[in-house]
Amino acid sequence: MGFNVAIDGPAGAGKSTIAKAVARELNLIYVDTGAMYRAVALYMLREGVDLADGEKVAGKCPEAAVTIRYEDGVQVVFLNGENVNAFLRTEEVGEAASVISPIPQVRKNMVALQKSLAAESDCIMDGRDIGTCVLPDARLKIYLTASSDVRARRRYDELTAKGESCDLDKIKADIEDRDYRDMHREESPLRKADDAIVVDTSDMTAEEVIAAVTGLCRSAR
Ligand code: C5P
Repeated sequence: MGFNVAIDGPAGAGKSTIAKAVARELNLIYVDTGAMYRAVALYMLREGVDLADGEKVAGKCPEAAVTIRYEDGVQVVFLNGENVNAFLRTEEVGEAASVISPIPQVRKNMVALQKSLAAESDCIMDGRDIGTCVLPDARLKIYLTASSDVRARRRYDELTAKGESCDLDKIKADIEDRDYRDMHREESPLRKADDAIVVDTSDMTAEEVIAAVTGLCRSAR
C-alpha cells in the first residue's frame, strides 16, 4: 500500500482547507469524499426526491453514477458524465448530503470508489469514516476538530466574504444538527479512530494547523 493519510472530523473543522494545502506541500492527491456524497445529494435534489424517504433515495442510487478525475491536482466530480464541481459547495447540498449519507446503498459505492482511489495514488483523504472504515490501515490518521462556536464563526466569515447574508445562530444550529446526524447514525458514524491523533484547531490559525499536519505527515512517511 502507498502512503495514505486519513482526516476525519465534524463539519466546518477546516478539513478540506488543511488537506488541500498539505497535499500541495507534500505532493499527495487530495481526495474530498464529502464532494462525492454531495454529488449524490445533488442528483436527488434535481430529481425532486423526498430525502426523508430512505427507500426512495436508495432506489434512485443506481441512477446517480459518480466518477472522479484529477485535473492539475484538482478533484473533479462527474455526475452521470457532467462536471458538477460548481454546484456542490452550497449549504443546501451539504445538508442534503448529511440527510442521505446514512443510507447503506448511498455509502456502498462511495466507499468502494474511495478505496480504489487510495490504492492508485498516495493521498490525503478527508471525510467522516476514513480512519474507521475506508482506510483502516492508513499510515496516519488525524481527527480534526474545533468547538461549534469557532466552526460556526468560520463558516459565517466565509459566507459573508462571498457576499452572502447569513445568521450566525442559524449556522451554529445547522452545524450542531449535522454533527448529531453524522455521529449518531447506524452506518459508519463519525468517530475518532482509536489510533487517530486529535488536532483541536479552535485556537489555531490555518497556517498553524497546516504546519502541524504537514509535520505529522513528514514523520509518518
Ligand atoms: O464534508 P462535507 O461537508 O462535504 O460532507 C457533507 C456530508 O456528507 C457530511 O455531513 C456527511 O453526512 C457526509 N459524509 C459522510 N462520509 C464521508 C464524507 C461526508 O457521511 N466520508
